[in-house]
Amino acid sequence: METMVNNISVEKATTSKINEVDFDNLSFGSVYTDHMLVCDYVNGAWQSPKVVPYQPISLDPSAKIFHYGQSIFEGMKAYKDESGKTWLFRPLENHKRLNKSAQRLAIPELPESHFMDGLTTLLQVEQDWIPQNPGSSLYIRPFMLASGKGFHASPADEYKFIIACAPSGAYFSGKVKVLIEEKYSRAANGGVGYAKAGGNYAGQFYPTQLAIEKGYHQVIWTDDNTHEYIEEAGAMNIFVRINDTLITGPTSDRILDGITRKSILQIAENQGIATEVRKISVSEVVAAAKNGSLKEMFGAGTAAVVSPIAAFGYKDTDYELPELENSYASQLKKYITDVQYNRSEDKFGWRYPV
Ligand code: PMP
Repeated sequence: METMVNNISVEKATTSKINEVDFDNLSFGSVYTDHMLVCDYVNGAWQSPKVVPYQPISLDPSAKIFHYGQSIFEGMKAYKDESGKTWLFRPLENHKRLNKSAQRLAIPELPESHFMDGLTTLLQVEQDWIPQNPGSSLYIRPFMLASGKGFHASPADEYKFIIACAPSGAYFSGKVKVLIEEKYSRAANGGVGYAKAGGNYAGQFYPTQLAIEKGYHQVIWTDDNTHEYIEEAGAMNIFVRINDTLITGPTSDRILDGITRKSILQIAENQGIATEVRKISVSEVVAAAKNGSLKEMFGAGTAAVVSPIAAFGYKDTDYELPELENSYASQLKKYITDVQYNRSEDKFGWRYPV
């Protein structure tokens, strides 16, 4: 039966899977909620988004997503506070970035109201799926794909925008060992690295597998031209602390404009931590590791918030990082998660009620 919620059509699932889910033992992104949001682009316009039961989608074999990889996505989370109220963290930034990615992949941009009204309605329908256990959240995956038909290598005339959600447990990444990449690149000048294009991630899998075979968890991507500057940590932005200064690379064609990255920069500056946004050379990091001024390295992104790096490998040598009490990584993670779970004042206006 279809009802209207916030002017959005909602078709409820006839049965719920929620009782099959062990909310105390959730992994990351592997069980999905009862509903999803679907919005079609046909006849030159985005139609009204609808909440429907979670289900497979059917596509013609000639759909352009399969041949030309015209697809983009976002990653965000919904958090439940102690009183049971649901919050998002800077969701308008995800919408803006989705449209930046859409533009680069020649996909029609989605109006803000379709995104925000669709998302909040879906979350209201799925509110029982948003975990309240400490550190858990509902991982949200908005994505767009070219459903239009044709073997002609040109943009599709039809698209689907979908939001699917997965209740996910606390992301204990542990300390990771990373390999500074000397051969492969994830992005190039003039390319699509700044977009969350599906193919960017497919291109990372093979070099990451090679690093895993050598005993590392992740790759630190370097610039495609010289491989002399560190740019991203897997699918996260990267921060380096040398002495007491926190440094991250500038966003560019090649680096994703991460929401966690820019939040960390703002918090650090507000807390009186010296920050620098500038290119970071591998030789600077190696020299700092050798002389003891390299205090911390960590990845920053929605999934893990911050992911501390225990050691990095470069040219067949491993360099260990010190174990710090009260690291910047732990301070910044606490600050952000306290805002996300409504445990602290929201000085920057980042929390968004659902
Ligand atoms: N870099 C890349 C390549 C990513 O895929 C992500 C995850 N979206 C990030 C950085 C971190 O971005 P955010 O903080 O917005 O999750």
